[in-house]
Amino acid sequence: MVVVVGADRVTAASARLFEQACAVTPGGVNSPVRAFAAVGGTPPFIDRAQGCWLTDADGNRYVDLVCSWGPMILGHAHPAVVNAVREAAGGGLSFGAPTRTETELAAEIIARVPAVSKIRLVNSGTEATMSALRLARGVTGRPKVVKFSGCYHGHVDALLADAGSGVATLGLPSSPGVTGATAADTIVLPYNDVAAVRAAFSEFGDQIAAVITEASPGNMGVVAPVPGFNAELRAIASEHGALLIVDEVMTGFRVSASGWYGLDPVDADLFTFGKVISGGLPAAAFGGRAEVMDRLAPLGPVYQAGTLSGNPVAVAAGLATLRAADADVYAALDENADRLTALLSQALTEAGVPHQVPRAGNMFSVFFAEQPVTDFATAKASQTWRFPAFFHALLDAGVYPPCSAFEAWFVSAALSDEAFERIAAALPAAARAAATTGEPKP
Ligand code: PLP
Repeated sequence: MVVVVGADRVTAASARLFEQACAVTPGGVNSPVRAFAAVGGTPPFIDRAQGCWLTDADGNRYVDLVCSWGPMILGHAHPAVVNAVREAAGGGLSFGAPTRTETELAAEIIARVPAVSKIRLVNSGTEATMSALRLARGVTGRPKVVKFSGCYHGHVDALLADAGSGVATLGLPSSPGVTGATAADTIVLPYNDVAAVRAAFSEFGDQIAAVITEASPGNMGVVAPVPGFNAELRAIASEHGALLIVDEVMTGFRVSASGWYGLDPVDADLFTFGKVISGGLPAAAFGGRAEVMDRLAPLGPVYQAGTLSGNPVAVAAGLATLRAADADVYAALDENADRLTALLSQALTEAGVPHQVPRAGNMFSVFFAEQPVTDFATAKASQTWRFPAFFHALLDAGVYPPCSAFEAWFVSAALSDEAFERIAAALPAAARAAATTGEPKP
């Protein structure tokens, strides 16, 4: 097998696989952010991964700074997780009946987030936010939801307006297929703007079922809440009899053992979780106060269900991940984020590129901007045209960063000294590429 990086990076096998994929799958990918739409080129097709390393179909090895968009805090193919999955799979793949491990996973989450006393497991973050929103509407009997510009909560119809992640990368204001009636019940406000939230509640307060916010947004790039923002949302929602839904799908159990809640403990009515609690398999959850959660069927009238919800193999992966993520793992995640952001800032400073590397716990992103980025408008005003050159220089040197300026970078606890040496060697040329690339003509 050929294993090469740098100018010699071989891409023939990935190119062939991409062509085959494009013939049978829209854009050749099963989720738009994977398509390299913002950076151009062909995505490497990944054959396997171990620790912090990805290996593609051509045999190229990359330091993984995406971690499956968040879940893989322990690194890939962690022995405890793989063994748990093997053992669970050997006992049967799905029963459509309750199992003891579902309760164990719920208890593990509840122990870490005291504001949550009941949990329901689902299959994706999208399902978690969709279900939380339905529950909030069912409980309050109100139609409207407040969301923030640049926040992404999965591809739920009502929450796609002005969304981050792939919607931002592709420059879509919203999506065809979402009816006017659905969109009319969504109020989109600028992030970090308490006055805008107060104004919306004074106008529509008695119609608003919920405010939903990313615990700390990572889908317009990383834009942390200004201190006290989530607490203000809590207070405003309570004043008006609306629920607060904090979306921890990305931050949950990544930025601390208790997720963003561990760094900024605001008691929402409902939380959504995904990514880390799945250990890399399809699983997610929503949970919150018992009085609210008990309005779900079969106890209450709000319907929500799933053939594969609480799947025993996915639950085993999630439980093994949470149990292996001890204090040393969280210390390593923070340390690795410190080390990586220092290297990034140093290289970009030396190359004279304007940049911001905002942090939210161990999540961060890279904006080419003179001024701090505080919301989606300032994120979009950054020099995103510098990103493709920066990205491809890193990729060619065997470092795999997120393929859009509007995405977070994710470290794992498995990043090794060898990986950091590779990153440090790659960064100066990537920073120079960002510095010298030309701004496209309007
Ligand atoms: N909520 C947040 C904050 C997310 O970052 C994501 C996905 O990136 C989702 C919800 C949707 O999760 P999924 O892709 O599992 O549907």
